[in-house]
Amino acid sequence: MRTPMIAGNWKLHKTVSEAVQLVNGLMPAVKDTQNVDIVVAPVYTALGKVAEAISGSNIKLAAQNCYSEPQGAFTGEVSPPLLKDVGCQYVIIGHSERRQIFGEADELINRKAHALAETGLGIILCIGETLEERESDQMFDVLRRQVRFGLKNLTTEQMKDVVIAYEPVWAIGTGVTASDEQAQEAHAFVRALVGELYDEATAAATRILYGGSVKPGNVDGLMSQPDVDGALVGGASLQADDFARIVNFQPVG
Ligand code: PEP
Repeated sequence: MRTPMIAGNWKLHKTVSEAVQLVNGLMPAVKDTQNVDIVVAPVYTALGKVAEAISGSNIKLAAQNCYSEPQGAFTGEVSPPLLKDVGCQYVIIGHSERRQIFGEADELINRKAHALAETGLGIILCIGETLEERESDQMFDVLRRQVRFGLKNLTTEQMKDVVIAYEPVWAIGTGVTASDEQAQEAHAFVRALVGELYDEATAAATRILYGGSVKPGNVDGLMSQPDVDGALVGGASLQADDFARIVNFQPVG
């Protein structure tokens, strides 16, 4: 059985005190939640204080990005060992904002994946097509490329620490959500692809999250799809009560 994961990507929001306030509001609302991996990904500057605040709770810490080298002359970068040192258990890589705004390509994302695997950190690999790619029937090719090259040469053993987040770019921060059926179609495709690249057991064990305007009002339907194993949540993770409602999703049917 795959344990659902609900992860909040806070992007470039919240001062240190606001971040601590947010988790302090979240913790009581999710303290009784069981069998869901609850993850928050604050900005780098808030990681240490949020780690302290959530210590002993059922909330795990993630970073939103990392570099591929452990240390060295890489001004402005932060490495997987430093993120582990501050208390992170997961790191998001390949977010569409990193790909689009910062020009990150699959090759760099793959190097980050290897660096994280070597450090023993969980990987949340984001993939997803743009609207243009979907409308020109390139969606499956794009997803195939991002999964194949993003995970290239990771071993079956290392795949145990990989979570894939399907985030159609047209649904991120737009208020437009993929329908339950669109999400299921993409997730089933990605799971089959993991099966081709690895094996059936790895495909069955790999968690695939949906991301793109997930809110309290649409999470239940999405989480009722057989291949949707959780959500990566941007905007709605900035409000403790909304995020808590998403964490406490109620599958329908
Ligand atoms: C995201 O940033 O990963 C995301 C899914 O954002 P939003 O929920 O705001 O669409």
